[in-house]
Amino acid sequence: MTAGAFSQTRVVVAGAGFAGLFAAKDLAAKGFAVTVADKRNYHTFFPLLYQVAAAELEPEQIAYPARGVFRSRPNIAFAMAEVTGLDASRRVLTTDAGEIAYDYLLLALGSETNYFGVPGAREHAFGLKTLNEGVALRNHILTCFERAALTADPAARAALLTFTIIGGGATGIEYAGALRELIKGPLTRDYGCAGSCGAKVMLLEAGSRLLPGFGDKLAAYAGERLRRMGVDIRLGAKVTRIEADCVHLDGGEILKTRTAAWTAGVRGPAAAAGFGLELGAGGRLAVTRYLQTPGHPEIFAAGDMAVAAGQPPIPMTAPAAIQEGRQAARNIELLARGEPPEPFAYRDKGVMAVMGRGSAVAGFGRVSLTGLSAWLAWLFVHVAWLIGFRNRLVALSAWAADFFFFERSVRLILPGPGPGGRTGAPGPSDLSGPDRPV
Ligand SMILES: Cc1cc2nc3c(=O)[nH]c(=O)nc-3n(C[C@H](O)[C@H](O)[C@H](O)COP(=O)(O)OP(=O)(O)OC[C@H]3O[C@@H](n4cnc5c(N)ncnc54)[C@H](O)[C@@H]3O)c2cc1C
Repeated sequence: MTAGAFSQTRVVVAGAGFAGLFAAKDLAAKGFAVTVADKRNYHTFFPLLYQVAAAELEPEQIAYPARGVFRSRPNIAFAMAEVTGLDASRRVLTTDAGEIAYDYLLLALGSETNYFGVPGAREHAFGLKTLNEGVALRNHILTCFERAALTADPAARAALLTFTIIGGGATGIEYAGALRELIKGPLTRDYGCAGSCGAKVMLLEAGSRLLPGFGDKLAAYAGERLRRMGVDIRLGAKVTRIEADCVHLDGGEILKTRTAAWTAGVRGPAAAAGFGLELGAGGRLAVTRYLQTPGHPEIFAAGDMAVAAGQPPIPMTAPAAIQEGRQAARNIELLARGEPPEPFAYRDKGVMAVMGRGSAVAGFGRVSLTGLSAWLAWLFVHVAWLIGFRNRLVALSAWAADFFFFERSVRLILPGPGPGGRTGAPGPSDLSGPDRPV
């Protein structure tokens, strides 16, 4: 094939997340005419979202403008557009900004929070799946401290200062540790003991252990470390209902709290159900081992959105999404050349979770790291993968301030996303509900 052979071949990539971004770059390098459509004009680095919610990083430090990523690639066009449907017979993607025609399509719209049908969870729990949700949770936590400092009612104060995190996976433990450190250091200094003593961080996990997907030793270490930091870990604690001022557990216990942060799971995005394509487990798009959707060899899906039936499960992580996105791009190139696609083979890059300053767990095959060595590995990986030189620099300086001075500079309750998508700093009534994704 000559250079420029694919310049008339239109590939649409839906989603500028990990899968979409890497696929688009590979496709552009091969000379395809690529259009990337995303409802947001930026790429989000989700592994650090919990730090936004814990007042450690600003939202713009974990996001990067999509047009900036693609600036040096003239054959990638970006469309800020929400994907709403698909007409596979006409080969057009439907969006709120009109139709986009394709020869090949890669669907990579990620995932959304799975509340598992728990009554009240959608209405009253704070999700941690979008930048808006991260900011809303941060505003809410800081507002709880402000309200607690002003109330004379001990019961109301205790509920304001009890923070429950639901889900003992990596995000749950990372947020529990970061929140505990925020409270113990900066907030105790800001509010004094009168304003912050008695603040509780509770981590509720329905299963019998933390960190599924990590080795037993790493999970035990993480739990022990969090307990020493003062996190109240409840294993076998199944949440059955959430209300504005309490969380109900299986067995009848009711926890009085104004904060339920939900990190218990994700599912396929709602848009997937409207494509007329086969769905697999968890509302995700079914794909073959070539990442093609059954019956439509020209439509691929990758990342959190895709699930291959009959194949070993692939974790819903950034490295897996990147690998799938790149394999889908490679297979599109092979099909365009008239060659057969290659099956996707997942390469396990290991697992990592950080509990706090200088403390993490990491597993790479048979190698397990805990404590400072794991934290340094975590730091290296996250700085290396964070997009944008400025973001890396600012994140590093924020972590250095936290590490050496126990200081967090992002403790502002700024106008931003509020309950129900309203804007403005939260007022007293805003304590009753979370932000909804915009
Ligand atoms: C809080 C949190 C912490 C995490 N921590 C880690 C971690 O430490 N390590 C790790 O490996 N993984 C982590 N993950 C998981 C990881 O972020 C995901 O597996 C990864 O982002 C999946 O990549 P993706 O490309 O499939 O989707 P995403 O990165 O979610 O990208 C999907 C894109 O699609 C866009 N989109 C969605 N719907 C539409 C629509 N209808 N129209 C247009 N655009 C749309 C979104 O705006 C987004 O840009 C974490 C996830 C979360 C939420």
